[in-house]
Amino acid sequence: TRTQDEEDLPHATKKTMVDHLRKYESAFTLTPQRMRMITEAFKDTLEHGLKEYGQIVPMIPTYVFGWPTGEEKGDFLAVDLGGTNLRVCLVTLQGEGKFEITQTKYRLTEEQKHGDGEKLFDFCAECLQTFINTNTPEDGTGLIKPGQELALGFTFSYPCAQERIDHGQLIRWTKGFGAHNTEGRDVAAMFRTSLEKLHLPVKLTALINDTTGTLIASHYVNPRTKIAVIFGTGCNAAYMENVSEIGKIDNLGIEKSAQMAINCEWGAFDSFQHEHLPRTKYDQIVDETSNKPGEQAFEKLISGRYLGEILRLVICELTDEGVLFLGQNTYKIEKAYSFDTAFLSLMESDPTEELLMIIGIFSHFFALETTLAERQFFRALARLVGRRAARLSACGIAAIVGKMGYLEEGCAVGADGSLYNKYPKFADRVHEGLQDIFGDKGRNIVTHHAEDGSGVGSAIIAAMTKIRKEKGIY
Ligand code: BGC
Ligand code: MG
Repeated sequence: TRTQDEEDLPHATKKTMVDHLRKYESAFTLTPQRMRMITEAFKDTLEHGLKEYGQIVPMIPTYVFGWPTGEEKGDFLAVDLGGTNLRVCLVTLQGEGKFEITQTKYRLTEEQKHGDGEKLFDFCAECLQTFINTNTPEDGTGLIKPGQELALGFTFSYPCAQERIDHGQLIRWTKGFGAHNTEGRDVAAMFRTSLEKLHLPVKLTALINDTTGTLIASHYVNPRTKIAVIFGTGCNAAYMENVSEIGKIDNLGIEKSAQMAINCEWGAFDSFQHEHLPRTKYDQIVDETSNKPGEQAFEKLISGRYLGEILRLVICELTDEGVLFLGQNTYKIEKAYSFDTAFLSLMESDPTEELLMIIGIFSHFFALETTLAERQFFRALARLVGRRAARLSACGIAAIVGKMGYLEEGCAVGADGSLYNKYPKFADRVHEGLQDIFGDKGRNIVTHHAEDGSGVGSAIIAAMTKIRKEKGIY
């Protein structure tokens, strides 16, 4: 590998890189004042979504009523269709915040994400069948006993309009999914059809969003949790709302003193209009070249699916301008989505003075040589993009906190997803952002790593639903 002194190829010097950085700094930096403005607009949007159907941020009533009590016990299945994997879990709830979980992951192919929707659900059912068969030996020594029928929670992490807990009409695909013949249809019914074809001994009891599952699972183990956020391939939040505040369900005759979890689908904030969020030209390219231009405007600035791509677009611009990689073959980094968001986190945490990890990323994945000045620039750029994402997330959290009046008493925010879990600085920056918005009191709002909402949370909700049915509440 070349060192700093081996300037035999035309490489960007320290001074040019620092000049360029200044330009990106102003494009990607959010002042506290700007954050407060975004928070206010966000709060209005959330309130509006509770009053009327058909809003861009749909504030979906989930029909998950109140918190778990600890009475929830027994074996439950969960199928988790997220952004990247398919997962099947068997969860044993032992009460008092305790549980055991056994799970298997299955990879989803691009073809499944973009092919026929019915086939996608057939595949989910087949994976569930494999899982059940593996865990149900005939001699009865397995986790599942022959003849045992299990309640199933289906975690489907896309926006679905719900009329009941075991129903949900897909509003739109997000996170690059695009299976045909699915938008506008009841995905619970579609999955049920697939399950029936295989005669599986399960009952689809609840259709849940990953954020709702995370909210319930986190509260199950930490009752101070009032909000849940996913920072993964996608980005979204859920919280517990007073039914009296959900104007659009006024006519349903639900007890006004009850509480219901709301799946905000906040990733859609500022979609189409683009009036509140600071979008750079790289954000606009990400949007325009996505399979859903205009949509998920907030998510596209924050979630793991897009951060690497934003950074890559900046690098490609400087490459085109002849600032970076002159004389080197850049075809690998020119490929859309080739720059993984995990690289941002790696680049930021490189402990070596020479930034050896960054050397490794560029040489190994992109066959590119870099100078120290360039590597320092890339690291600073990762910091800008990562920091902006965290600070925007803080605005979303602050909007819910403000709306619910949680600032004084404080609250815990359960957070999950690859970005939150694998980008160590992300959480600190969210907290810093909350203090920029709220001042010192921002310290009262603390995120923590959530319990597995899509598995355990799904099971708890299936259990809560079963209990309500047995008590005849439905
Ligand atoms: C989806 C949400 C989901 C989030 C995190 C978003 O793209 O619209 O339903 O909760 O990703 O998985
Ligand atoms: Mg997930």
